[in-house]
Amino acid sequence: MAQKDLYKILGIEKSATAAEIKKAFKRTAMKLHPDRNADDPSAQDKFKEAQMAYEILKDEQKRQAYDQYGFDAVSGQGGGQGPGGFGGGGFHGDVGDMFGDIFSDIFGGGGRGRGRQGPQRGRDVQIEMTVELEEAINGVSKEINIPTMVSCDPCHGTGSKDGKTSTCSTCGGVGQVRMQQGMFSVQQACPDCKGQGQTISNPCGSCHGQGRKQEKTKLNVKIPAGVDQGDRIRLSGKGEAGPQGGPAGDLYVDIHVIPHKIFVREGDHLFCEMPIDFATACLGGEIIVPTLTGEVKLKVPAETQSGKQFRLRGKGVKSIRSHSTGDLHCKVNVETPVSLSGEQKDLIEQLDKTIKASGDKNNPRKKGWFDNVKSFLDKMTG
Ligand SMILES: [Zn+2]
Ligand SMILES: [Zn+2]
Repeated sequence: MAQKDLYKILGIEKSATAAEIKKAFKRTAMKLHPDRNADDPSAQDKFKEAQMAYEILKDEQKRQAYDQYGFDAVSGQGGGQGPGGFGGGGFHGDVGDMFGDIFSDIFGGGGRGRGRQGPQRGRDVQIEMTVELEEAINGVSKEINIPTMVSCDPCHGTGSKDGKTSTCSTCGGVGQVRMQQGMFSVQQACPDCKGQGQTISNPCGSCHGQGRKQEKTKLNVKIPAGVDQGDRIRLSGKGEAGPQGGPAGDLYVDIHVIPHKIFVREGDHLFCEMPIDFATACLGGEIIVPTLTGEVKLKVPAETQSGKQFRLRGKGVKSIRSHSTGDLHCKVNVETPVSLSGEQKDLIEQLDKTIKASGDKNNPRKKGWFDNVKSFLDKMTG
């Protein structure tokens, strides 16, 4: 983008105070109201430009960076929330989504300290998102449709048809009213203008002066790699828009992971069970174990017993909280051969004879077990 003079866009001096910047943007936003600029198609772009200028200048850090290094230093860092990936960071929101926030800032509360009852905040929205285990582990972007209250486009979320306001007759524009309660005089936000000092002269027809409408919104939600069943992701400002330009609530995405056919996850570890054949269990050999990064060969030692668990280090899940990666625990179960032919049965019988002939050498566990049974029976009868 070309170099931009953000101060010029808002029509202010470089030395403008925070309050002056806010005021200038409010003035600009009203001036660029779509209904006042029906014959000027560039008004919308100008509004977006003013909005961007305001976004940067209202943020002390960004303003400093802009003053020092120019526009390039601050452009494109719109929704960044620092490291971590949660929050609004990875969101591809439309510029329009920011209306709620900005107007809450501008129209809400008026002067600082004058009253804390600004426009109401929109409600939080909670949704459940179902993902495959692979998606939870590797991260995924999903488009979702949620019915929610969004800032009204035709009036820029102001609730006003023409951008005109009139001084509130109840509070005379102060935004506060005094109520006598016994001995005390209590100051409260004006109930008619909700503390804004101004009322809308002609309410917007599209939203009936609410500044927001019920709508299905499409959101691209980025699920960070490593999330687990029951995790909750908060997308700040992606809930319902507040009434009359109030700040938007948050969107909570609860993660539900579909059970996997092969793996069971426990924390950062994965578990699986796999059958191995009788000969491999006896003589040892190589088996192919599935992992998240492809198949790996696992050496099975000779005389492997059914139920033996092998650990494949680092083949589990990359933790979302630390930098460690869990392990894959693979349990092997010896499969007894089925559907044997007559010849195969003969061979097994032959084998069995030689095993029995060797005494207890081939089946030490079986011998140990029967020794225990014998001493148990001796005790019972003795
Ligand atoms: Zn009032
Ligand atoms: Zn409207």
